[in-house]
Amino acid sequence: MRREQTLVIIKPDGIQRTLIGEIIHRLERIGLKLVAMKMLVPDKKHVEKHYTLDPEWIEKVGQKTIDSYKSKGHKPIDTDPISAGKRILGILVHYMTFGPVVAMVWQGGHAVEIVRKLVGGTEPLTSDVGTIRGDFVLDSYMIADISGRGVRNLLHASSSVADAQKEIELWFDKKEIVNYRLVQEQILYDVNLDGILE
Ligand code: GDP
Ligand code: MG
Repeated sequence: MRREQTLVIIKPDGIQRTLIGEIIHRLERIGLKLVAMKMLVPDKKHVEKHYTLDPEWIEKVGQKTIDSYKSKGHKPIDTDPISAGKRILGILVHYMTFGPVVAMVWQGGHAVEIVRKLVGGTEPLTSDVGTIRGDFVLDSYMIADISGRGVRNLLHASSSVADAQKEIELWFDKKEIVNYRLVQEQILYDVNLDGILE
């Protein structure tokens, strides 16, 4: 479990907001280990593949949007989750390909869940203060949907261990992931903290 891995992508808006360092800092300081990293401009096919690795994602994202509109007392744009999801996939492909992104693999205890906690909820309007999305961006589904664009929320993070495995395989070759030891891992995980006192 301490070797769990998750995929993080700093989206084009995160790069343009010059938040690469801030995001890496937050993931590093909790004790996670960076094991792979690259900058690239993804193409449309790649992004489409990324978001459809989980066959249920389209319906889930569509339902999430509909629920969010309803909980705020607004009428959702689409009432059918699948058509809402397909609309979001289309705008996401555009969003994710307008400039460079930084893709990374982070490793450590409960990496998937810990990273999602640090990243915060999908819609920055309601992401908790103290999370990356809650602290550095202010977009909402309504503002984004009015102009027909993706919610600008700075980064992607895998949402389950199964998704993380598939996403890492899509973005990285096995040989791009580095297997190495960080000295601090002894403090984070080992039973004995011996060897500290001289
Ligand atoms: P995440 O895992 O928190 O990134 O959220 P999802 O996997 O549900 O959605 C993927 C991305 O699609 C989000 O990060 C947003 O950029 C975008 N998105 C999700 N829902 C909506 C929506 O209702 N409207 C718009 N315009 N974009 C959305
Ligand atoms: Mg997601």
